[in-house]
Amino acid sequence: MSRLAGVGVSPGVGFGTGYVLAHEIPVPAPGSRHGGDAGTERSRAEDALEQVAADLEERGARAGGEGQQVLNAQAMMARDPGLAEEVAELIAEGRSASRAVYEGFGRYREILVDAGGYLGARVADLDDVRDRVIAVLEGVALPGVPVGAAEPYVLVARDLAPADTALLSPGVVAAFVTEEGGPTSHTAIIARTLGVPAVVACPGAASIPTGTPVLVDGTSGLVRLSPSGEEVDIARKAAAARAVVLAAGTGPGATADGHAVPLLANIGGPGEVDAALEHGAEGVGLYRTEFLFLGRKEAPSPQEQEAAYLEVLRAFPGGQVVVRTLDAGADKPLAFLPPAGEEPNPALGERGSRLFRIHPELMTGQLTALARAASQASARVRVMAPMVATAEEAARFAAACREAGLPSAGVMIEIPSAALRASDLAAEVAFFSIGTNDLAQYAFAADRQVGALTTLQDAWQPALLDLVAMAAAGAARHGRPCGVCGEAAADPVLACVLVGLGVTSLSMAPPSLPAVRAVLARHTQQQCVLAGQAARRAVSPAQARAAAREHLPGLTDLAL
Ligand code: PEP
Ligand code: MG
Repeated sequence: MSRLAGVGVSPGVGFGTGYVLAHEIPVPAPGSRHGGDAGTERSRAEDALEQVAADLEERGARAGGEGQQVLNAQAMMARDPGLAEEVAELIAEGRSASRAVYEGFGRYREILVDAGGYLGARVADLDDVRDRVIAVLEGVALPGVPVGAAEPYVLVARDLAPADTALLSPGVVAAFVTEEGGPTSHTAIIARTLGVPAVVACPGAASIPTGTPVLVDGTSGLVRLSPSGEEVDIARKAAAARAVVLAAGTGPGATADGHAVPLLANIGGPGEVDAALEHGAEGVGLYRTEFLFLGRKEAPSPQEQEAAYLEVLRAFPGGQVVVRTLDAGADKPLAFLPPAGEEPNPALGERGSRLFRIHPELMTGQLTALARAASQASARVRVMAPMVATAEEAARFAAACREAGLPSAGVMIEIPSAALRASDLAAEVAFFSIGTNDLAQYAFAADRQVGALTTLQDAWQPALLDLVAMAAAGAARHGRPCGVCGEAAADPVLACVLVGLGVTSLSMAPPSLPAVRAVLARHTQQQCVLAGQAARRAVSPAQARAAAREHLPGLTDLAL
């Protein structure tokens, strides 16, 4: 095994010693029992749970941003009273604290696995909390990434838990390689945010022995084990040359013939504003406000919301800032908003803006806080709703925004029905923003968390390009702008195709902005249109890529 192939999700070349992140916490033996003092054993378990919760919170405070919200959510798992009770009952029956924790978490695990979707994907987070508690009880080292490594290393794992990645610094990690995860998975989003090359959905990755030198190409998805010095040199030089060319451009986004395409940033909170500015974002195309709500016992107060929104708005005086209302449920469950009823398919349930039907006070509170923030800043504030399926829903949202004093209301296009009837929706709102991550998930019936379905989540799928073109045409019919804020916008070649299909702005993780700006500046609008048409005539993602490239001559020296 000298080469592995996966999906490149964060560009660039990384080389270093492979460090396989294995959670080697021994499973406490099934028959393991305590010495008879259930009270003492129970206190030990409670102390360990609290120690782990506090440690996760402390890591969160150091990480800030989205990482903090995710780690706080994990800390809440450790402090869940139901779980503590479960563990106490098992200890009362005679089990040792470690075994009780193992079995207690196991019962919760089954519930999450049965729920599937985002909750199913949180199993890794729950397992991570369990292992940390058992490690404390057994007095063994906590699972985690190497601390104080002298040389950059390539982090290899089956999948990465937020606690593993939140504190990683790009200076120490040369690249990520994971066996699981798709292009829109947590690992991929974190890698792009950190600007670290990454390959996901890479079969065989978890079997790479720790200590193996690993060369990772986050553009092609190729992973080479024990490469020669010459191979490393060539790959590094090519990546460096490409990076210099790609980073050279500055200023607003535009095609070679001056057709303006605003380049905006996707952010999860004020903590990511600096990165957005550093990479030349002209504004914010997607402010994921749910990160302010995740991992909380109650909704943030109107004052706290207003302050968070205002901090972002003030960073872009006169610029565009698109704030998305709370996108909770399914993917992102909120502790204070349990689902109204049983949901066998949470991704198809009461999620996104549908939750506002059950909790209208949440939307009113959020819009009021945003309107207050907007009145104190010069940014052009736009607000959009996630998961909108019909023109009726779009109209209802726009009315609520007007009532709150926010005239520029839009919707995300991430459900195929919204793309199919784009013109009806465009008549009701001021703009569209296409969420290609969910649009692919729903168009192809392919869960975005499942690595094995990567091909179906490929944004080069011609059917997805058709839906994008339909949405853009529907918006244009009413003179409305139509941006893309899904991960598709971060692929510089696909970005040209999207512009050719009629997309009017592109929003992405800040480190992806320079490459998109550079590639766009090398092509005319007409070349983008021809590339878009050619890609739509193809019948597979590979053919679409190849067909589009024929019309994009500026790619030849970039090895993209
Ligand atoms: C999307 O679905 O493409 C999107 C941008 O929203 P999120 O990734 O937050 O679901
Ligand atoms: Mg979405």
